[in-house]
Formats: sequence, C-alpha cells, structure tokens
Amino acid sequence: MVRRRSRIDHRILDGYLTAETNILTAEEVKALVGTMRITVEELIEQLLPWTAKKAVAPVSGFKVGAVGRGESGNLYFGANIEFAGQAFHTTIHAEQCCLANLMSKGDTGLRALSLTASPCGHCRQFLNETNSASVLKLYLPGEEELNLSDLLPIGFGPKNLNIDFSLLDPQDHQLTLASKPDDELVEIALEAANSSYAPYSKSYAGVAIRTRNGQTFRGIYAESAAYNPSLLPLQACIANLVMAGRSMREIAKAVLVCKKDSRVNHAVTAQALLKSLTDVPLNIFQAE
Ligand SMILES: [Zn+2]
Repeated sequence: MVRRRSRIDHRILDGYLTAETNILTAEEVKALVGTMRITVEELIEQLLPWTAKKAVAPVSGFKVGAVGRGESGNLYFGANIEFAGQAFHTTIHAEQCCLANLMSKGDTGLRALSLTASPCGHCRQFLNETNSASVLKLYLPGEEELNLSDLLPIGFGPKNLNIDFSLLDPQDHQLTLASKPDDELVEIALEAANSSYAPYSKSYAGVAIRTRNGQTFRGIYAESAAYNPSLLPLQACIANLVMAGRSMREIAKAVLVCKKDSRVNHAVTAQALLKSLTDVPLNIFQAE
C-alpha cells in the first residue's frame, strides 16, 4: 500500500481536514479518492498519522490513531485519551474511541479497522463484541490484512453468555423520563441511553455534554462480555468531544441518563471522572 505514496497530493487532504473533522462520509471518501486518484486503503493510510495527532496522552505520551470503516462506508476517526491523575482503567483506547464515534452517528456495523499500533488484548476483546467480529478486517503497521480471529483465537463473546445480538445491532430500550426535560441535552442523553448496549447488566445509560461554544455530544454505554473492556457513557462522550476538536476544559454542562435501579451505578463512576476534569456538576436523571 505504501508503494504509490510518492504521487499522493497531500495538499488536497490537508485542505479538506480541519481540527473538527471526526468523520468522512461515504460521499466524501468517494470524492477524495476520485480527486486524489488513490484507493480507499491508501486514503486511510494517509489519514492515520493525522488521526493519531488527536490523541490526548499526558501519561504515556504514546499517541495511537484508528480509522474505522463503517457499514455505511463512512470513515470514523479515533485516538487514545488518557486522564492524568486518574486510574488507568479510565483510559479510552483509540479503538474504543473510534467505536464511540461510529455509534454516536448511528452506524450499524464496523467493516474494517486500521490502526497505527497493534491492538492491546483489551481492545481485541472489545472489538469481539461487535456484530461484525467474525468478519472484521484489521490493518496494522507492517502487516498483511488480518481478521480479528487471527488476533483472538478461541475468543469469548456475547454468544458464550447466551446473548443472541451484538454491539452495533440497533437497540431501543423505550426508556422515558417522569417529566419532559426542559433542556435538549437531557433528550440527547435519553436517546443515548435508549440506544445503549448493556445485555449483561441491563444498566442502560447515556451521557450528553454541551461545550461552551454550544456544541452537543452524546456518549453511548457499550458493555463487553468480558466486563472490564466495557466503554462507559461519559468516556464515550468525551471521546466524541475530543475527536470533534474540542477540549475537556470546554465542558459547560453534562447530563447522565441511566435506567432506574440499575445493577451498575453509572452516576458514581461518571461523577468521579467528571470531577477530576471540571467543576461542572453531573446532572443525573433516572429513566424507566
Ligand atoms: Zn487497547
């Protein structure tokens, strides 16, 4: 794939991408590969180092970029996000970030994932939760095309726990709030909770954040059959905020909507992380 790099006109891409770019739609991808006269794979190869620059890695300094190709043909960007002063388990891996982005746009599958570094065990497991895990293609530096199963033989996934659907299959939990919210942000968090994936705990949850410039972001909770790799809704929301070129310092309002009497207490974990980032409180709503 590297062989034709010399004739790629970087100026076209540089002029196309801004700090806010977190996705290229299928139409944009088609237009770009046509103008640049390259393949989609070559385009993704050009996008990877640019995507990695979006990483926030105050602890490791190790920036990872991910570009996922959704079922829609859209390309979704992801990068790792670390939280200084917090326990390692709060870290958002580039692969999770990419999935959070894809989920927030309502895409229904991940066809392929390209990365600037080999995925860790945690991410191999997280990716195994997706509905395309058995056919998911991975592109890693210096490697031929791989299947996820090449990196995760004898894997453990939803089917092992008798769940007959998977992450990225559309969800609608029909949760409602006791009274109609007076802020659109609560509606966004409710929608995120309703589309969340929590087959193991049924603890459906979503987060929405508004930044000082008025932009809104959603974060959808996504569980893993191995539990620990699960992506919490606040993390998913921060992933989307960072990929859109915003800073965590710009958080102006944050809302968590979670299912009432859930086995997982999302409020405790989300509050702890948010408090370490900002003085903005977490507004919590229970839905039934
Ligand atoms: Zn990882």
